[in-house]
Amino acid sequence: MFNIILFGPPGSGKGTQSERLVTRYGLKHLSTGDLLRSEISRKTDLGMEAKKLMDKGQLVPDSVVIGMIDAALDANPDAKGFLFDGFPRTAAQAEALDNLLAQKHSAINTMLALHVSEDELVRRLLKRGETSGRSDDTNEQVIRARIVEYYNKTAAVADYYKKFNKVEIIKGEGSIDSIFQFLCHEIDKHKPEIVG
Ligand code: ADP
Repeated sequence: MFNIILFGPPGSGKGTQSERLVTRYGLKHLSTGDLLRSEISRKTDLGMEAKKLMDKGQLVPDSVVIGMIDAALDANPDAKGFLFDGFPRTAAQAEALDNLLAQKHSAINTMLALHVSEDELVRRLLKRGETSGRSDDTNEQVIRARIVEYYNKTAAVADYYKKFNKVEIIKGEGSIDSIFQFLCHEIDKHKPEIVG
């Protein structure tokens, strides 16, 4: 398997680039944000509990998202690899992911970290809120709270993978096409692992 983490703050373009990357490399896209929104739209108990936190810009508990990822890995036994988007978001989630992948005799091959300035993030999220139907994108206070959660809890995840020399920093500003090319360039350095 070839497994990538696409990493970066809210609004850094993970969702947009993930769609293109999974098409190019034949990976299974796993977005915890999408999985949680699907629980909310189906009005499950998990979704209703998660919504209260998401509407405040806070993270949902580690045990909830780790359980969702565990189930998603098991549901895709034939996947050639996974692209993780919005996960792991805490050091505990990163350790849990490594353990889940190790049980499947696999590991994270690379983390691609998108860097975007805070002003640009807020601009993009407010613009996305005009059309996305996502309530967490319409209120600037909630957007800022998500960015604070990112710096307090999530940024450390990059430090975790840096210890294993797995982090590549990518400038996440510029055209969608040019950022996609930068991402592909990094992934293609691992070509033997992807093909093998
Ligand atoms: P964005 O990164 O643009 O804010 P996401 O769709 O990735 O959007 O996540 C939306 C919300 O879902 C987050 O603000 C958080 O409340 C929750 N969430 C998503 N993934 C995780 C995760 N791995 N751990 C905890 N909470 C998460």
